[in-house]
Order: sequence, then structure tokens, then C-alpha cells
Amino acid sequence: MAEPYKIVVGLEVHVQLLTKTKLFCGCKNQFGQSPNSATCPVCLGLPGTLPVMNRQAFRLAMRAALALNCQIATFTKWDRKNYYYPDLPKNFQISQYDLPFSHDGHLDINIHADPKKGYTPKKIGIIRAHLEEDAGKNMHDESGRGGDTKVDLNRTGTPLLEIVSQPDMNTPDEAIAYLEEVRLLLRELGVSDCEMQEGSLRCDANVNVHIPKADEPKGYAATPLVEIKNLNSFRSVGRAITYEAKRQYDEFLKDPAGYRIEKKLKTTAGWDDPKGKTEVQRHKEEAADYRYFPEPDLVPVVVSGEQIEAVKAEMGELPSAQRARLQTQYGLSPYDAEVFTAKGRAMVSYFEAVAKGMNDGKAAANRISDLVFPAITERKEEIDAFPMNAEAFADFLKATGPLPKQDRLDVFKHVLETGSDVATAMAAKGISTTVDEGKLRSAVIAAIAANPKTVTDYKAGKTAAANKIKGEVMKANKGAPNDVVQRLLEEELGKV
Ligand SMILES: [Zn+2]
Repeated sequence: MAEPYKIVVGLEVHVQLLTKTKLFCGCKNQFGQSPNSATCPVCLGLPGTLPVMNRQAFRLAMRAALALNCQIATFTKWDRKNYYYPDLPKNFQISQYDLPFSHDGHLDINIHADPKKGYTPKKIGIIRAHLEEDAGKNMHDESGRGGDTKVDLNRTGTPLLEIVSQPDMNTPDEAIAYLEEVRLLLRELGVSDCEMQEGSLRCDANVNVHIPKADEPKGYAATPLVEIKNLNSFRSVGRAITYEAKRQYDEFLKDPAGYRIEKKLKTTAGWDDPKGKTEVQRHKEEAADYRYFPEPDLVPVVVSGEQIEAVKAEMGELPSAQRARLQTQYGLSPYDAEVFTAKGRAMVSYFEAVAKGMNDGKAAANRISDLVFPAITERKEEIDAFPMNAEAFADFLKATGPLPKQDRLDVFKHVLETGSDVATAMAAKGISTTVDEGKLRSAVIAAIAANPKTVTDYKAGKTAAANKIKGEVMKANKGAPNDVVQRLLEEELGKV
């Protein structure tokens, strides 16, 4: 049942950039080093040190911003955000305040409403993306015996890209779809590995609800904004939004005149995953509380049109363009194009090589989904490490084309387990191809020759016309495998 309110969500995503070194010093930027080993006078904020900007960090950030369709500022500067915290030895963070390097973009996302029907596209606005340095990490004693809190400053000064969306998401699913698309995009671009477990992707959700009311000037009443922090998985993002929206609606019902966005400051809340609750913590600091001022130790960055073009040229094909191409070039359904794209470029390359080897995109997609996906999951492997490369898999499919589904699966498993070739695997399993493909092909050629009108219709774009010819072949060759006849027919029709 639909809720009596509309959820409004904007997301702030922080990602760590895949640079070799930190944003303003030469310390190694790598997860998992021993505590406080990757530090130097610059990132420790010792007196007399000066920061120098990492060009590669700026380049990666620009690549991400361009992929998010943002405008790149030709002039951008650095600002100090002042606050005191144990994991921030300088007592300020170098960030970007009023002149971020990019702004006003958008990201097209796909909401998985129904796998059978594909997805629903939606455009999410991007307010800005800016660069800043990360803080260190406080390590609290979790034994429950009240031990010390320690601080690890390895993360201090590592490059962070903050991407701020418009409040354009209206369901938990939309928020998750947005995060999935951001993660896919940044991984494909080599900008970040986006590992939420390692903190290289972090997300805060700004949530409020609109309650329809005919007598309001805007037609609805809006609840105060709450920024939810400590979201450590996409699933908790979804759960936290659902919980918080309901909580705000309940607060509104208790005090419809007072619990309003115009009457209360924005607050922050933590998400307690085991309890499944948000805990409102404090009023959010206003920008003025941070006493932003321009960073005097760094020169502003001037970006030329040629530099923007150079970064654009190294982006490669973006996921949204790839989805469209897989549909037009290989005839994949929107759903299949989405599934393959979501699995990354390596899987798409594998698919394209198999599709070319078989000369049939749809069949390649189906066979990879039936055979390769489950095998990879079971073997806990990436496609790059899968023992059957695309060429071998295409050959396997050709050799086992006439087999019933179960026999093909048995042979596939045997090849994977033993590393033997297909013929040996078939012999070992006592399976043989009883279908004479040459004979079937002759039957297909004869049926095509006997139906010139149907072929003309087919060539004119009536693809269903081919079913008539297929029907005749199947009738005359009882027990012939449907998929083999289909493939032969498509091959032969392609030659007419
Ligand atoms: Zn350093």
C-alpha cells in the first residue's frame, strides 16, 4: 500500500580516488597499511610544511565529473573548512567551498521495477562534485571494557571526491539504483574501487517527506531535513530511508503546525543497523560554523578546454551508452543489456566475443546467463580468471549446439572440472550429438528456396515471418532441436 506521504531523498557520496599518493603530499594512498605508517609532516599538519596538489587526483575527479555530465569550472580554488577533531591534526580540512571544480550535472539511473519488463529510467540531478582531503580514523575499543581510543592518520590527506545529488529520489529503490550506478560508473572509469567495507565509498542521505495538503501554498507540508550518517551498505541506505520517512511522518502527525522544514534546523542522525533505527544526534552545523576561508598555501586551478577534451577522450564508453549499444548492436533486451553492463566491462567484452564467435547476440547472452554466470558464482571467480575464455566458450557452444539443455550443462561442468576438451567430455559423459547439422542445414536451405514470399517479408522487417519457414523445417525433421534450427535459419537467411 502506498504511504500517505512522498519521500524526498538527496545523497552525498564520498569516494576515495585511486591515486598512488595522497592529495597534497607524497605519502602512499593504500588501504590496509600498518597504522600511522603512511604519514609525513605535510599530512600531519606540522608547522612550516606546504601542500602541493596531486595532478592525477584532479584528473580522476574531472573524469568522474564529466561522466556525471557536470560543467567543469575553468577556475577553481581551495578552501579551509575549520573544525577540531582528534583525527584531523591540522584542525582544518582542505576542501572546496564556493567555487567547486564541477557543478550542475545529472545521472540517468535505472530502477529495477520488474526483471521481465526491464527497467524504468530516471534522471537524477547532480548539484556539484568537489575535491577534498579525507580525515584520519579514530579506532575505538570495541571490547566493551572501556579501553582507549586510538587514532590512525594513514587516511589523513587522501583524495576524496564528494558528489552531491539533487533531492530527486523518491523511494529507497531509487536511492539504491543511484548508488549502484555511481559505483558502476566510477569503477569502470578507474576513479575509485568503491568498496563500502573499506570506506572507499561512503554515503549520507538527506531525507524528508512531503505530506499532501490541499490548503497549503505548495499543496503539501514538508518535514524538517535529517541527514543520516553511518550507512555502511546499500541495503542499510534503503532501510534507513524507509524508517526515517515513517518516523518523520509520525512526528508530523503529533505536531502538524510545528514539525515543519521552515520551523526547525536540519539535524544529523546515525543509523543503527542492528536495531534498524535512526538516532537523531545533533543540529547540523551551518556553513558559517566552519569559518570557511580560501586556502592561502595552494594556488587556484585553471582548467583549459583542451584539458577537458583530453580527459573526455580517456573516459571510454560509459555504462548508459553501453546499455543502448548492446540493444541496438546485438538485439539484447533492455533487461539483458542492464544485467551485462552491471557486471562490468570485462564481462561485456566476454559477451561481445562470444556473440561474434556465434554470430548471434541473443543466444550468446542466454548461454552465458545459463552456464557462465552460475559457474562464476559457484567458483567465486571474476570473468577474467574464468578458465574458459570467450573463444573457447563459443567453440563449446558450437560443438554442443544440438544437445538438449541438461546434456550441454553436464558437458560444460565436465570440461570445467577436468579441463578436458569438449569431445573428450562428451565421450566421458556418454553423450553424442545425434543431430546431423549438415542435413538440417540442407532442409533449411530448401525451405528458404520454397518460400520466396516469406523471405521477402522477412527481409522487409517482418522478423516473425521466419517462424513459418522454421515451422516447416521442424515438421519435416521431428525431434530437431529448436535452437539449432533457429540458428541455422538465421545464418542462412543472412546469406539470402
Ligand atoms: Zn603525507
